[in-house]
Amino acid sequence: MWKGTISVLLFACALRAERFEQVEPHMGTLVRITIYARDASAMKPAFARIAQLDQELSDYKPDSELNRLCRTHGAAVRVSDDLFQVLEAAQKLSALTDGAFDVTVGPVTRLWRTGKLPGEAAMSRVGWRSLVLNKMRRTAMLKIEGMQLDLGAIAKGYAADEGLKVLKSLGVKRALIAVSGDIVAGDAPPGTRGWKIGLEPAGGEILLHNAAVSTSGDEEQSRTIAGVRYSHIIDPRTGRGLTSPIAVTVVARRGLDADPIATAVSVMGEERGRAVFGKRVMKLEIVR
Ligand code: ADP
Ligand code: MG
Repeated sequence: MWKGTISVLLFACALRAERFEQVEPHMGTLVRITIYARDASAMKPAFARIAQLDQELSDYKPDSELNRLCRTHGAAVRVSDDLFQVLEAAQKLSALTDGAFDVTVGPVTRLWRTGKLPGEAAMSRVGWRSLVLNKMRRTAMLKIEGMQLDLGAIAKGYAADEGLKVLKSLGVKRALIAVSGDIVAGDAPPGTRGWKIGLEPAGGEILLHNAAVSTSGDEEQSRTIAGVRYSHIIDPRTGRGLTSPIAVTVVARRGLDADPIATAVSVMGEERGRAVFGKRVMKLEIVR
C-alpha cells in the first residue's frame, strides 16, 4: 500500500518537472543542456564543470593543463585526475586500434589547420608509444621534445559525461548534454522511453537513455591542400587527413567511449572497425 502511494507521488513529481534548455559556447563549439527539473539551477554548475574541463584539456588555449604538459619532455609530470583519465582512455584505444586512434597527432593537426601537410620533422614527433603514463603516480611523460597532444576526438565526450554527473549529483537525472555531435543522456524525459536522437547521416532515430552517442567524420571539417580534400580526421600512419568520405555513429555507455571510438572507426574503415568494435559498443552505424 505504502509502496503504491510512494510510486504515485514520485510519478506526480516527475510530471511536475518542467523542461529547461540552455546553450553555451565551450570547447570550440556549442554545448546544449536539456533537463526536466523543478528549476534550472543545476545548469550553471554543469556548464562550469565543462568550462573547467575546457581549461584543462584544450589544445587551443596556450595555458591549458594539456599545453603546459606539452612544453615538457623527458620528465614524468603529475597531472589532474581529469587529464589522466582521458589520456589513459586514449592510450587504451591506441593499443586496441594499433595506433589508428592517437592523441599524439597534434603536430599534424596543427599543420592541417593552416593548410599544410606534415614532413618528416612533424611525423617524427607523432606516436602513442612516446607518451608514457604511470597510474600509481598519476604522471604523464612525453618522450620526445616538441610532441603535441590533441584531445579533440575524446575530450568532448568526457566533458558531456562529467556535466551529466554534476546534474545527477544535484538530483537532476532526466538530462541530455550535447557537446556538438557528442551526446550523453541520463534518464528518459517523463513518460517516455528515451531521448529522441536523429541519426545523421545514417538516417532514422534512436531513443537514448543512460548512454552516449557520437558521430564522427562529418564532411564539414576539411581542408583542400594542393587540390585534395583532407578531413580533420588524420590517419596517424600517413599524417594525412582521410580522403574518402565515411561517417561513423557509435552508441556506448559513456561519451568517453563513444566519442573516440567513432573517430577510431573512421580511420580504421568499416571492416576493421566492425571487427574490433562490433561487439564492444551498443550500436555501430557506418555510412560511406
Ligand atoms: P569532431 O571534433 O567533429 O566531433 P572527432 O571526434 O572525430 O570529430 O575528432 C576529430 C578531431 O580529433 C580532430 O579535429 C583532431 O583534433 C583529432 N584527431 C584527428 N585524427 C585523430 C586520430 N587519428 N586520433 C585521435 N585524434 C585525432
Ligand atoms: Mg570523436
